[in-house]
Amino acid sequence: MFREHVAVSGACGAVLASGMWVATPIDGVQAGVAFTLVGIGGALPDLDSDRGRPIQELTALLGAAVPFVLVRRFAEIAHTFDAIVGLGICTYLLVRYGGGWALRKLTVHRGMFHSLPAMMISGLLTYLAYKSPNNGIRLLMATAVMTGFASHLMLDEWCSVDWRGLKPRLKKSAGTAIKWAGDYPSATIACYSLLGLCVYAAAIDGDVIEVNRLGVPQRVADRKEPKPWLAVSPETGEAMLAEAPDGNDDAERDPVRMVEAKGGVVLR
Ligand SMILES: [Zn+2]
Repeated sequence: MFREHVAVSGACGAVLASGMWVATPIDGVQAGVAFTLVGIGGALPDLDSDRGRPIQELTALLGAAVPFVLVRRFAEIAHTFDAIVGLGICTYLLVRYGGGWALRKLTVHRGMFHSLPAMMISGLLTYLAYKSPNNGIRLLMATAVMTGFASHLMLDEWCSVDWRGLKPRLKKSAGTAIKWAGDYPSATIACYSLLGLCVYAAAIDGDVIEVNRLGVPQRVADRKEPKPWLAVSPETGEAMLAEAPDGNDDAERDPVRMVEAKGGVVLR
């Protein structure tokens, strides 16, 4: 199955990346990264298969890919090149060996790793990890991983139909890939808790909401931006806009006082 998943997600990646390259202002390198991320997304659900080559190859692949995706995050906290290299190596070891161990302990095959909320988590984690000044690029990379993930789930469901014979029949594995909840309530609850946390973190990181001083989330659009003052110019008598002071209490830069000092009248 590993090969089939690579082939299908590769085809999806080629369509997504070339389509985006033609339709949006992304460059060839970004399209290439998106293509690769679709391929990685297509392999992700099988992280829950306990043994064998796929899991070893997958954790090795992720160990290499995750530090690269996180490079801008590393640069935020580490201020020297050597520190970034160090963080990259630590992340590789953590994902490759720590991740592999945790997956063997915590997951069952075709559990919540093969589910729609897990697909959303993969996209949100990519959005959070792939720091970029361009929000569209972050959304593209998150979409790329989710596209690969979705192609995997669909192929798994396709293969759980027995197409031989006159009438297609469902195998026992039908419905275990595209699903909203698993057999174990604890795994389902853990999955949705993680999803909620990821949505919250992505909303803050993407400037959709912010947390005010009391810890209450609010929409960024609701924030009171200081508005420019409308005033009447003392020289010409015309209406004019004066910039509001940006938080400093320097009286000389206060536009109200500046206007009033010149004999003008502040209207608002
Ligand atoms: Zn699978």
